[in-house]
Amino acid sequence: MIRIVMLGAPGSGKGTQMQLLSNYYHIPPISVGDILRKKMNIDFKFKKYVQNYINNGKLVNDDIIIKLIKKRIEQKDCHNGFILDGFPRTIKQAEILQDNLFTINYILHLTIPEKKIFERIIGRLVHIPSGRCYHEKFNPPQEKNKDDITGEALSIRKDDKIKIIKIRLKEYKKYTAPLLDWFNKNMKKNKIKFFEIQTVHSIKKINRKILDLLKLNK
Ligand code: AMP
Repeated sequence: MIRIVMLGAPGSGKGTQMQLLSNYYHIPPISVGDILRKKMNIDFKFKKYVQNYINNGKLVNDDIIIKLIKKRIEQKDCHNGFILDGFPRTIKQAEILQDNLFTINYILHLTIPEKKIFERIIGRLVHIPSGRCYHEKFNPPQEKNKDDITGEALSIRKDDKIKIIKIRLKEYKKYTAPLLDWFNKNMKKNKIKFFEIQTVHSIKKINRKILDLLKLNK
């Protein structure tokens, strides 16, 4: 059973590495951002309530997030493990994760120099139904603006703009970065393995590094 939490600033490559790990271990990738974007597409009332937060780079209310993630993790495909991207993002979410939800085996903290974040995010394309992400320059789809698997159109996220990325970074520093300390304090008693991975290399190289770490520390 493998349960992984991906931590890292926006643009650190969590989503991309999560997809690769999910294919390798055959466990579902769970991105809270993807769940929110999908739900916004089909639920107008929900969209009206959360879109201002998401499109303006602010975190959504903890209670909404916890409800959504609980529902997702209780699904059958998560019984053999999963990878979480974008949860927990606050200490409150982590406390609930610890007390009520499940036990994590690995935390992968992806690090990136701040100036690289902008070039990684600008040019990013997403396939909303699956959450697959691409980048015009660093990870282009086989056919321009089309998802490799379904051929459906790719989108640019409304919050992938320089002004909003700056706000997302602020939110990350204020609410999510303190989680690193929190995990450090709480990890030992929970036997969680924590790895920090620099993501200045190619997607493939980072993936190899992560797989080596996970295999060595089974
Ligand atoms: P992401 O796709 O992970 O970059 O998330 C996009 C946006 O969804 C964030 O900027 C937040 O508005 C919201 N969001 C995603 N995960 C969380 C979370 N765990 N807690 C609060 N808001 C979240």
